[in-house]
Amino acid sequence: MEPFNPSDLWNRCLYEASKHLEATEFDAWLKNSSYEDINGTRLVIRFRNSFVAGHVKSRFGSMLEDIIRDISGMNELALQFIGDPAKPGPSSSERLFTSSTLSSSDSTFLRSNYTFDHFIVGPNNQLAHAGALAVSRDIDSTIYNPLFIYGGVGLGKTHLIQAIAHHLRQKDQKRTFSYLSTELLVETFIKGVIQNDYTKFRRLFQGIDYLLLDDIQFLKGKVETQEAFFHRFNELHQHGKQIVLTSDRPPHELQDLPERLISRFQWGLVADIKPPEYETRLAILQLLVKDEELEVSHDVLDYIASSIRKNVRQLSGVIHRLAAMSRLTKCKIDMNLAQKEISSSLGTITRRLTPGNIASVVAESFDVSPSQLKGKQRKRSVLVPRQVAMSLIRELTSLSLKDIGSFFSGRDHSTVLNSIDRIEELKQKEPDLDRKIEEIRRKLISI
Ligand code: ADP
Ligand code: MG
Repeated sequence: MEPFNPSDLWNRCLYEASKHLEATEFDAWLKNSSYEDINGTRLVIRFRNSFVAGHVKSRFGSMLEDIIRDISGMNELALQFIGDPAKPGPSSSERLFTSSTLSSSDSTFLRSNYTFDHFIVGPNNQLAHAGALAVSRDIDSTIYNPLFIYGGVGLGKTHLIQAIAHHLRQKDQKRTFSYLSTELLVETFIKGVIQNDYTKFRRLFQGIDYLLLDDIQFLKGKVETQEAFFHRFNELHQHGKQIVLTSDRPPHELQDLPERLISRFQWGLVADIKPPEYETRLAILQLLVKDEELEVSHDVLDYIASSIRKNVRQLSGVIHRLAAMSRLTKCKIDMNLAQKEISSSLGTITRRLTPGNIASVVAESFDVSPSQLKGKQRKRSVLVPRQVAMSLIRELTSLSLKDIGSFFSGRDHSTVLNSIDRIEELKQKEPDLDRKIEEIRRKLISI
């Protein structure tokens, strides 16, 4: 079986999504969609018309992207929803659904297994988990307001924030919440601007005891949404409403956000999630295997836990693919199969970290062109990015100094070595540069 056949991948994504949605809802929105094309790392999915495509994007977009990343184990996969312009308007069933699900359609969808029960606690995520539990249980606690959870991709931020939502949804709870992706927040605000009607935007915050906002880093560059959000934040906070935010980086690294917003993010508890240790990875694997009702020997789990270290999503990707393979081919999941799967999934990661890819990400971050990066200019604005690219290529690929030199238009290995030393020195002296390099590294590792 070809693990990344995009059409299969979409069908499996639909199958997973169907487990989280009501059948009627699934049929109305998702059932008749199909994979159309791949555009870079974006799967293009076609819907009946653009109305359906737009609705699916705002309502289920982030859930579907999470699912597709989980089953493929590839963090960079994204989805694009297309459809021809809707002709006379939405069909009656579409109308029915937008009006009857009006209040919940303002929320991003929850994954049914992203609960506290399904979250393995380890030293890497202990504080974030404790904070999440505390705010779920005790609304009066101001020391955790806001709760700001940050960490790299695929480490469980969405899982934890949704676990809070699930907890609040239980029958005996009298508390209301909004769970939103920041993308939905931005989109709703922009629609408000265009239509000069902010009712929907306001409704996102109305009458809620909890605001759960996922992936706050997407506020970057959205100046007007930031402003509007700032006011909502203050209002909620003043009224003792609990706010929970997640981000891929700590507050002080959200450089494009205004200082006053960043300082508010630090008012309560800031908790990070790091990549899990071996024992936690093993416990997560055991949970996944149990969920999938698979039989996998300890040796194989040990092998997977030792091979995949940085990202929980990749762990679940491997288990999902092994499960699919063993079901399709009716073969046992043994060491042989696991080794093949791991080398193919790690292979896709290392294949993507080529000198060319690294150079182009560096070039983009420093606003120079890839050809300037490889060229001869020695002014600082080009020289430093070139040296950064060399040092990241050295770190992230297995290329020799000589090969790296040839990639940069035939420079020799000592130039490369000097560049790497120079960057190490600069990083000590210039914290801004250090942060920037860290940001680029993070971006590269998540591709
Ligand atoms: P993020 O939002 O940080 O990118 P997610 O919350 O989407 O990451 O997590 C990626 C996958 O890993 C999800 O399938 C999630 O259920 C799983 N996961 C992450 N951390 C844990 C954990 N501690 N226990 C169980 N599953 C986890
Ligand atoms: Mg997430």
